[in-house]
Amino acid sequence: MKPDVPDAARSAIMRAVRGEDTAPERAVRRLLCAFAPGYRLHRKDVPGRPDVAYVGRKAAIFVHGCFWHGHDCARGARAPKANSDYWREKIAKNRARDARNLAALADLGWRALVVWECEIRRGSEDALARRLRAFVCDAPQKRASKE
Ligand code: ZN
Repeated sequence: MKPDVPDAARSAIMRAVRGEDTAPERAVRRLLCAFAPGYRLHRKDVPGRPDVAYVGRKAAIFVHGCFWHGHDCARGARAPKANSDYWREKIAKNRARDARNLAALADLGWRALVVWECEIRRGSEDALARRLRAFVCDAPQKRASKE
């Protein structure tokens, strides 16, 4: 059974469920801009519609909200008291879908990086930027052009 939520709150929730253009996502894009612009957003033709995709490099970045995607952290463990079965089921479905998306990407030869909302904190930008750069730029190119 669906919880009773006012319309405005519901549409805010649905935006959050879709996870589009959230503050954590914007923070990641801002960091990526500095060293790897040219990404595409929410490409429908890439499994899971990654928040950020480098199509040529076959690299996808997902920015996951800890609650919605069931992260193993304090924020992810936060369980609403009301309608807890509803949320548990919803989050379990999100997790299952995430796993399917990662598998589908791997099948197509894509690499994927998941950045959790809780990893984006004031003061942690440098570490996150290094991680993003390593993922996007320093990945071993399969059979580089020297071949
Ligand atoms: Zn988390």
